[in-house]
Amino acid sequence: MLYPIHVYGSPVLHKTSAEVKIFDSKLATLAEDMFETCEVAPGVGLAAPQIGLDLAMFVWMYDGPEHTGPKRGVAINPSLLIEPVDVLEPTVSDEEGCLSFPGYQYGLRRSPRAVLHAQDEKGKWYDLEATGWFARILQHEYDHLKGRIYVDRLTGKPAHQVEKVMKREKWNVPGIVWMPGEDELYEASAEELAHLDEMSKYFADIKDEPQQPDKGASFGLSK
Ligand SMILES: [Zn+2]
Repeated sequence: MLYPIHVYGSPVLHKTSAEVKIFDSKLATLAEDMFETCEVAPGVGLAAPQIGLDLAMFVWMYDGPEHTGPKRGVAINPSLLIEPVDVLEPTVSDEEGCLSFPGYQYGLRRSPRAVLHAQDEKGKWYDLEATGWFARILQHEYDHLKGRIYVDRLTGKPAHQVEKVMKREKWNVPGIVWMPGEDELYEASAEELAHLDEMSKYFADIKDEPQQPDKGASFGLSK
């Protein structure tokens, strides 16, 4: 099934994602749905926060000419090692886009090499080395799980342009989404958002328990 894609301003896009703890057939279905959504969008990668889920998980689908790595994959609870990024001016070949900032592209320098350490949908850990555009995809998707959209990394004139775009498009407010294949932006319903919240809590194994008001005191945090 297809999931609507959340646009810049949706709170889930701007926070560190929760660790995935439940690896079951539902998670495998979610991964398949993310591939489908990514394909129809179309994109080369999709992170769970982009479909409104607070989960540290992304998929990629990439088959570039120089690409020798897996053409698609799921990365769950990942860490990513990169080489320092140079400070050269971005060129046309550095132009990146994002389904959560649809219709715009900006140049951004990225590390030419990345090493991914992650779990697959069955919970099995793997390591993967990436170069070139594939390394860029991994950095872009990994950023999503840290609450960062690539436009947040821009500086100077492009950063200013992004500000103007958000004002003009009336983005940077919660709840704006679009359905792949339809492209029309609309407001997500409260039920839709509640369902996504429930799904996130299920896979992150977060139980809705009443808060313990005196917990802070035992750590000496309250006065
Ligand atoms: Zn993105």
